[in-house]
Amino acid sequence: MKPAPFDYYCPETLDEAAGLLEQHGDDGKVLAGGQSLMPLMSLRLARPSVIVDLNRVSGLDGIGANGDGGLHIGALTRQRALERDAGLPARNPLLAAAVPLIGHFQIRNRGTVGGSLVHADPAAELPAVTVALGADFVLASAGGERVVSADEFYLGYMATACEANEVLTEIRVPAWKTGRLWAIDEVSRRKGDFAMVGVALWADMDGSTCTDSRITLFGVGGRPVRVEKAEQRLHGAALDDATLKEVERIVFEELEPDSDIHASALYRREVGGVLTRRALRAAAERATEGGA
Ligand SMILES: Cc1cc2nc3c(=O)[nH]c(=O)nc-3n(C[C@H](O)[C@H](O)[C@H](O)COP(=O)(O)OP(=O)(O)OC[C@H]3O[C@@H](n4cnc5c(N)ncnc54)[C@H](O)[C@@H]3O)c2cc1C
Repeated sequence: MKPAPFDYYCPETLDEAAGLLEQHGDDGKVLAGGQSLMPLMSLRLARPSVIVDLNRVSGLDGIGANGDGGLHIGALTRQRALERDAGLPARNPLLAAAVPLIGHFQIRNRGTVGGSLVHADPAAELPAVTVALGADFVLASAGGERVVSADEFYLGYMATACEANEVLTEIRVPAWKTGRLWAIDEVSRRKGDFAMVGVALWADMDGSTCTDSRITLFGVGGRPVRVEKAEQRLHGAALDDATLKEVERIVFEELEPDSDIHASALYRREVGGVLTRRALRAAAERATEGGA
């Protein structure tokens, strides 16, 4: 099928883009990499009458380091640019490991970081990773700028705090702590498919004792799911078999996914628990081998 008719604008400044979105309200849609929006429009599941293409707006892409060791990533940065950033694995290994799991390289060549975050597919890697990392999102409109935490950004199934008149311009990622343990893992039918279930996590350790952690799952609800009870179980504990087995049980009990054509709710809960246990073990083993 072909998209329904629409007017196409290609602004060159953020002000111009924000003005167009203000003017057209709910009829307007931002176009970034087009990897999710164009299929939806071609299937006529989305029928915006105005497209505001961001690709000529300068200053919206690039990866930079903040003074405090954190990162700022322009929303229009291609997923492939993040993947190819040679410094990223040292600056944020969890983020670096997440990007190659997104679809196929052809998709990552065009798909943008911001597009994935605003599209907010519950099975997508980057929304869960930004929640795990405690990232902040900068949203710009004709009225000014506001900053929303990743945790508050995801409201429900493909629903975010980004209003129709707003452009996501930047993602701010806090500094990565030296020695932090981390892992990301997922189960999908074929390589490159969206995950049926996935987990992104990190843990800070004092010797063999966990002092802080974040455990975020994807593909198990309408938005990234942080399992705080499992995090609490880890705190003050060693990552031994007994603790990890209990974390697996807690994740299984806490998840409330839906069943769909890809997997049953029970399957997702079981795999969520097992993946979390395995990811924690993999993180601990990598550290023992000197690769944290
Ligand atoms: C075959 C296939 C497999 C895929 N597999 C995966 C996968 O495994 N994991 C995964 O995470 N993704 C996957 N994707 C999706 C891919 O990552 C997309 O690139 C991403 O979801 C959307 O990014 P985009 O830049 O293409 O955004 P677009 O398609 O251009 O836009 C998506 C939505 O976000 C809005 N938007 C985009 N940028 C902004 C912005 N800066 N401010 C405000 N709103 C904005 C648009 O208005 C639109 O609603 C897959 C896609 C395909 C086609």
